[in-house]
Amino acid sequence: MSCRSHVQLLRLINQFGPLSRAELIRISGLSKGAVSMVTADLLAHGLIETRDTVHGGGRPSIRLGIAADSAFFVGISLADRPVMVLGDLHGTILDRQDIDLPDRVEDIGPHVRRLIARIAPEGSLHAQRMRGIGLAVSGLVDEQGGICVRSTLTGWENAPVGPLITQACGLPAYVENDANALTVAQYRFGPMREAASFSLISVGQGIGCGHMFGGELFRGFRGGAGEIAHATAEPGGLPCLCGKTGCLDTVASLTAIAHLATRAGLPGDLDQLEQLAAQGNLGAVELLHRAGSALGLMIAQMVQIMDPQHVLVARQGGELTGLFGRAMRQAAEGNILPQLAPRPEIMTCDVMADSWAFGAASVAADRSLFHEF
Ligand SMILES: [Zn+2]
Repeated sequence: MSCRSHVQLLRLINQFGPLSRAELIRISGLSKGAVSMVTADLLAHGLIETRDTVHGGGRPSIRLGIAADSAFFVGISLADRPVMVLGDLHGTILDRQDIDLPDRVEDIGPHVRRLIARIAPEGSLHAQRMRGIGLAVSGLVDEQGGICVRSTLTGWENAPVGPLITQACGLPAYVENDANALTVAQYRFGPMREAASFSLISVGQGIGCGHMFGGELFRGFRGGAGEIAHATAEPGGLPCLCGKTGCLDTVASLTAIAHLATRAGLPGDLDQLEQLAAQGNLGAVELLHRAGSALGLMIAQMVQIMDPQHVLVARQGGELTGLFGRAMRQAAEGNILPQLAPRPEIMTCDVMADSWAFGAASVAADRSLFHEF
């Protein structure tokens, strides 16, 4: 079972489902015979299930939906603190655990095998139906080879973590940049499921960005698409870890905000700064306005260059309802070409600590089921 029509119908059912066979014929453009054969095949493999019956003008039709427990995925995130989750095909996190990493990257395979045995014990339904393992890391990855090209957080360089995990666990392992993993999760299982295209910007200790266009991540030629963290926001500004100066990361990341605030004798926590700004503290107002405006201006430029249908700004550990978020929105909306109509909606959301690991599990689901397999 590995043809294009299977993937096409599975994608449509995940994106717009539950759907009847008649709706699948209409949306997919496949023949009645092909839809009938492929859905029978998907049902036989347990990937989809029958749901309710719709009574319309003609014959009543049964709608088909994705079966949650037909496949399970493990996701591991190395952002901030390492976390492992177990996810199903409805995008539910069934279990989560804080984990540690081996000292040497060479030991990652057996290490992950032991970790998986904890979350999906041998013989359990979760282990039997485990389809893949996803790993989300900050930095550059070679997703085809499963290689972490460079990650400052882990110190890994050209580490073949994917093949090492596959070899030890006997399961496909997929490595992805963490912002891209979050983008895949929003598309496959989140509010962006029906979006034709969107760009996600994550605001955490660092700034990340992923582009989903036509159901595929847009990576660029070298995998560097979306590296807005290191696009220049303030020419001649503060030095950045990457070696440049004035990068967006030096102004608008939570690390930068904390650093600039501490230097000004203010608390480094964003929510505390928001509180102070609301009370009229000029230092806090200036800092949050500077950070939010820099981010908003970068979003406007990104919209001009990429023209996504939607923009989703995800903040780790909180909402973006204060001055930082308002300044961001104002700068973004004020700098997008007015003739570009309708304007892309700039949505915000709160990202939980486990969302990154779930993003990694989503990558495993996406690559093993929603691409030709
Ligand atoms: Zn930089």
